[in-house]
Amino acid sequence: MDQLPKLAANYAPLSPVGFLPRANAVYGDRASLVYGRVRFTWSQTHERCRRLASTLLLTLGVRRNDVVSVLAPNVPALYEMHFAVPMAGAVLNTVNTRLDAAAVAAILRHAEAKLFFVDYDYVRLASDALQLIAAAGAPVPLVAVIDDLDRPTGVRLGELEYEALVAHGDPTVELPELQDEWDAVTLNYTSGTTSAPKGVVYSHRGAYLSTTSLLMSWEVGTEPVYLWTLPMFHCNGWTFTWGMAARGGVNVCIRENRPAEVYRAIARYGVTHMCCAPVVFNILLEGGDATARLAKPVNVLTGGAPPPAALLERVEKIGFNVTHAYGLTEATGPALACEWRAQWDNLPISERARLKARQGVSVLSLADADVVTDDAAMARVPRDGKTMGEIVLRGSSIMKGYLNNPEANEKAFRGGWFMTGDVGVVHPDGYIEIKDRSKDVIISGGENICSKEVEEALFRHPAVADAAVVAMPHAHWGETPCAFVVAKDKAAGVCEDDVMAFCRKRMARFMVPKKVVVWDVLPRNALGKVEKVKLREEARKLVPAVAVAPPAQKTKGKPTTKTVGGGRRDEHPVEQVMAMSRL
Ligand code: ADP
Repeated sequence: MDQLPKLAANYAPLSPVGFLPRANAVYGDRASLVYGRVRFTWSQTHERCRRLASTLLLTLGVRRNDVVSVLAPNVPALYEMHFAVPMAGAVLNTVNTRLDAAAVAAILRHAEAKLFFVDYDYVRLASDALQLIAAAGAPVPLVAVIDDLDRPTGVRLGELEYEALVAHGDPTVELPELQDEWDAVTLNYTSGTTSAPKGVVYSHRGAYLSTTSLLMSWEVGTEPVYLWTLPMFHCNGWTFTWGMAARGGVNVCIRENRPAEVYRAIARYGVTHMCCAPVVFNILLEGGDATARLAKPVNVLTGGAPPPAALLERVEKIGFNVTHAYGLTEATGPALACEWRAQWDNLPISERARLKARQGVSVLSLADADVVTDDAAMARVPRDGKTMGEIVLRGSSIMKGYLNNPEANEKAFRGGWFMTGDVGVVHPDGYIEIKDRSKDVIISGGENICSKEVEEALFRHPAVADAAVVAMPHAHWGETPCAFVVAKDKAAGVCEDDVMAFCRKRMARFMVPKKVVVWDVLPRNALGKVEKVKLREEARKLVPAVAVAPPAQKTKGKPTTKTVGGGRRDEHPVEQVMAMSRL
């Protein structure tokens, strides 16, 4: 076969930024974004992005591959920067608004940010971060404030201001064409739940393919009304920043996920889609009348942490149609989605919730996803829903790599796979289920306990609103589970003995938490993930000051290939061979 050449007519580098000129051409007079009293159409959004891109290039001297950082909640400017910054050939770095000054400074320095846009409400945090950078003698980026577009405040940090930069731009300026689809489009730092944040680089190609494949996995049709409950700074809003332009959707921007505001926006704009971490379900349950139903069903894509089946059941009853996805910053957001099968439609709601709580099958932009053994062979585990191993991914939505971090890259890419660090199983129908993060697995007397399995049971307890389970050092078993729970009714509280008795009926004894701590609220990061590092510290403090023996046999922090769910589940496996007094 002749090698036919790539021509301008049949080959164009893939980039999600191209969805914007298309939205201008196809949906120009349709609403693109609403924020308070602010309304834009797709033509206006297109023009504003072109203006900002021209200012970045011609006035602020931004060059190809320069990093432009932004610290902002879900406001119009943050949305526009997802197009304007790469249109100028630069790389967008969205910074988590819940970080402290030292973490923000560390990111700006590591990213070598040239420009730093800051929402007016975060000026204090930004200026503290900038001072830290200056004190360290490192280069300080140029700063521009994003004032409130609906109700300007006049807050400034230096002279530059976002709206003035947009107004100053010229929408007719010719912008550089993307030469290579492998060029970086964005830089996102991991949330650092298990290790220091790492800078994850996405290519234009990866972002394009992830966007289109997620729109397909979630079956998003044209002209959706999308409520921004997921921070855009998290994996570029799981690519729906670009995805809404691809589908001519309306972006409904709100600064904070307060229950009243979420429900008001749903009713007022006829929201059809939203994404959120499972923790936002608690907000939805708090804010709505749990017995009432939504006027129209709202499609919710949830992920980022395991959604307990009991919680899925409750939000679905109100009229939220939940799709469950699993992913990581390194996989441009969702990498697996629990694709729904028509044959499950008529199952009882609790069974449907159980099936839906599984993480699912790979999105189309991935070439493969599986669970492999943790030895050198990295063999695929049998599809038995029991044999555990590490979840691995391969394909176009996997990041280019970590910025300036060769050691982390070496660890992350192995044997042709991206290693997720999550422990899972594959069910006979090919659906993957995460059992735990490898660092959260509790090893008791040499046996693995998946914190998620214990948490699932705790969420079924009638008095428990929220729960997390971590390892507590134990003199004999090495580690035992310690549960932190939040009461549904704060005044009535939760009884520790009652929770333990409840668990004993539902799981093997060795899995039952040996301590139950009742807290008002669990510590969570900006993405709603429970900060288990903090809980482990607390759990350590609860241990009497006795010498702690190392856990039997295994090395902690590595997923182990072994089966769950089989055998006798009422005894600690080690107890079966050792006649020892319990605890
Ligand atoms: P970090 O790794 O710093 O927490 P990420 O936001 O990239 O930052 O988190 C990815 C991790 O979140 C995954 O490795 C996994 O442990 C967890 N996660 C994501 N989605 C799900 C899900 N649907 N169910 C269970 N865990 C999930």
